[in-house]
Amino acid sequence: MEQLIVVLFLVFFALEFTIEFVLNELNLRYVRARSAEKKIPDFFQGNISSDEYEKSVQYTLAKGRFERWSMIYSRCLMLALLFSGLLGWLDRFAGGLAHRFSLGLYGHGILFCLGVSLVFSITSLPVDLYSTFRLETKFGFNKTTIGLYIADKIKVLILGLVIGVPFLFVILWLMDVMGQFWWIWAFVFISGFQLLMIIIFPTFIAPWFNKYEPLKEGEFRDRILALADQVGFKTSGIYSMDGSKRSAHSNAYFTGIGKAKRIVLFDTLIEQMTTNQGLAVLAHEMGHYKMKHIRRMLIVQTVFLFIGLYILSLLVDYPPLFAAFGLTPSNHAALVLFSLLSGPATFYLGPLMNLLSRKHEYEADCFAALTLHDGKPMQEALVNLTIKNLSNLTPHPWYSAYHYSHPTPTERIEAIRQWAA
Ligand SMILES: [Zn+2]
Repeated sequence: MEQLIVVLFLVFFALEFTIEFVLNELNLRYVRARSAEKKIPDFFQGNISSDEYEKSVQYTLAKGRFERWSMIYSRCLMLALLFSGLLGWLDRFAGGLAHRFSLGLYGHGILFCLGVSLVFSITSLPVDLYSTFRLETKFGFNKTTIGLYIADKIKVLILGLVIGVPFLFVILWLMDVMGQFWWIWAFVFISGFQLLMIIIFPTFIAPWFNKYEPLKEGEFRDRILALADQVGFKTSGIYSMDGSKRSAHSNAYFTGIGKAKRIVLFDTLIEQMTTNQGLAVLAHEMGHYKMKHIRRMLIVQTVFLFIGLYILSLLVDYPPLFAAFGLTPSNHAALVLFSLLSGPATFYLGPLMNLLSRKHEYEADCFAALTLHDGKPMQEALVNLTIKNLSNLTPHPWYSAYHYSHPTPTERIEAIRQWAA
């Protein structure tokens, strides 16, 4: 039985890797070929200089080549972790520590989970460092200093411990004492926990990493408030965030729920856009809210969580699974195995979710165009964002269908033009 599990895992693992690797190669070739033909999509002709286009091609190719190697690296690591006996060794080591310091079974489980995540943090560091300090720096996006980078890592570590350890403790306790239906209790707990995080994130966690300042009084702010009023969007404030201290990439979003929703604009976005374009971006974001996209996505994720926990509840009582990867059956080993193995088994859900997300993006664009009684600002904002972020103008259609949570800028602009016509 153990062999069958290993074979099954390897089949899914290889399938996922092959699909992602081939798509990346196809995309690289496609972009290179379009660039050689100098085929800029219609709408961008006249809007983008040949220098900017060339730079966006180079950025896309550099990221794609880097992705090729980081994909191979991460897959090798995963195989090494699963089949080298390291997991079993970590489990025994955590057990030994827990025994010496009388931390009990939950302490053992928590130490094991921490050990596994430490392995991932350390091994992903080279990839992260290269991406931030070489790739992003080369194309002028990175603004992070080494000091800020280290401070960020330490803060994430502290948060992980302060929030993650009690969270794990409750899950392990529920698995231990709640009997057969522990997973329903875990489901209720995790759902409540997520809700709590949504509420406390904007006021207690996010300000630790960035400075949030109420948007300066003036025309832009007045028009945003008027827009919020017009579409019936309740907000507790509009904030500008100093995204520029880490990266020149720009963005806008809102966080929180109910009346406590905050609109957050990156300072980079405010700087790069005209008032009309910025307003179009916000109308788009409000569109997501008004059309209940966020609620719908949350519901879908909650359903996945429910199914996932049910499957986990079956795996906990299935010893051959543990044996296949060199582990002794336990609740914490089940948690770790489940999170490691679920990737290759659920990778096809990603493109499906992206399909739903792209549908939402079209709807939000349409909402922005209708609300502003004009499709132009949204189109201009998209062109502007695409150029400033050096986004790929010509992704391979299969690549974008699989990976993109947003339709390509060209697709979005064409769609807005059709509605506006
Ligand atoms: Zn959107």
